[in-house]
Amino acid sequence: MIPFLDLKRINEPYQAQISAATERVIQSGWYILGEEVQAFELQYARYCGTRHCIGVANGLEALTLVLKAWNFPMGSEVIVPSNAYIASVLSVTHAGLTPVWVEPDPRTYLLDPARIEAAITPRTRAILPVHLYGRCCDMSPIMKLAQRYNLNVLEDAAQAHGATYESRSAGSLGDAAGWSFYPSKNLGAIGDAGAITTNDDELAERLRAWRNYGSAQRYVNEYAGHNSRLDELQAAVLSVKLANLAADNERRRTLARLYLAELGPTVLLPPADQVDCDAWHLFVIRVPGDTAGSSRRDALRVYLRERGIGTDVHYPIPPHHQRAYAAHAAVSLPISEQLHREVVSLPLNPSLTDEEVMQVIDAVNQFGR
Ligand SMILES: *Cc1c(COP(=O)(O)O)cnc(C)c1O
Repeated sequence: MIPFLDLKRINEPYQAQISAATERVIQSGWYILGEEVQAFELQYARYCGTRHCIGVANGLEALTLVLKAWNFPMGSEVIVPSNAYIASVLSVTHAGLTPVWVEPDPRTYLLDPARIEAAITPRTRAILPVHLYGRCCDMSPIMKLAQRYNLNVLEDAAQAHGATYESRSAGSLGDAAGWSFYPSKNLGAIGDAGAITTNDDELAERLRAWRNYGSAQRYVNEYAGHNSRLDELQAAVLSVKLANLAADNERRRTLARLYLAELGPTVLLPPADQVDCDAWHLFVIRVPGDTAGSSRRDALRVYLRERGIGTDVHYPIPPHHQRAYAAHAAVSLPISEQLHREVVSLPLNPSLTDEEVMQVIDAVNQFGR
């Protein structure tokens, strides 16, 4: 059996250190906004190469708080990729803003810089590139456009811990970045957790208030803020795991190279031009075509399941087709819609052995025959 994800196995190497860290926090008697959070924020800012890291409750909160702290007029537009996790879009609407979809580059699945300009209106205030599956968006042209039109750029880096672009880290490329440490991410907590990174001193100060009821000084409230604090327990666990993140990501890259080298021509592989910059949060292949009215992608998933191999789909329904965004249902986004029909994620995480990945490869290649 090769499950798509086995968090117990992924966390097993850290078991003793995690236990020691949680014991330390429990014994300290200090559970919210203390030394553990401060220590993790310093380390993570250093890891990302940013001046600031602000720990928050989760990834959705990280994105939402930045958009709120930027204080755009209500109804301002934010450019979002049409194929992303729903949280990116939720952050926009939670902040009282309007998402404007832009189709991805069909080669990289990432926000296509060449399509952004046509989506800019006088109401546009920000661009929200999502480093989907662990690969950074093409940020140079995005930042140039942002400069030309005076837009802010918020990176959704929730899948890109340790990814780089032109030798700079994800999370240091835009004006601010939102991170999730949901347990399945490359840097995963043992519960919900998130962070914001930025080089903007003034924004960082405001966000420290925004995450804590809008209060910088106890019982004095500058903003109608959130309760969105990273807690001491999660911060202590994250510090343990951060120390090994680079090695974990190297292992992901090794397995990704194995997939790229050995998977046969019957499935479409992810772009292989930046294997060392990619954090390989997910290894996503595409299975085009239909057989007898049902998708070949779904047939492959059944075939692998019968052989004890778990897969997942990131994601089955595009945001504009979710009932939550029914007002956008009439929009046609053919590239995104096609990707949602064809993508399937194969098991990829640092706990897998070469043999297990070879087993997945053999099964996928057999399906193609
Ligand atoms: C996981 C994720 C989020 C949300 O993070 P949570 O911590 O679950 O709120 C946002 N964007 C992307 C791309 C994600 O993968």
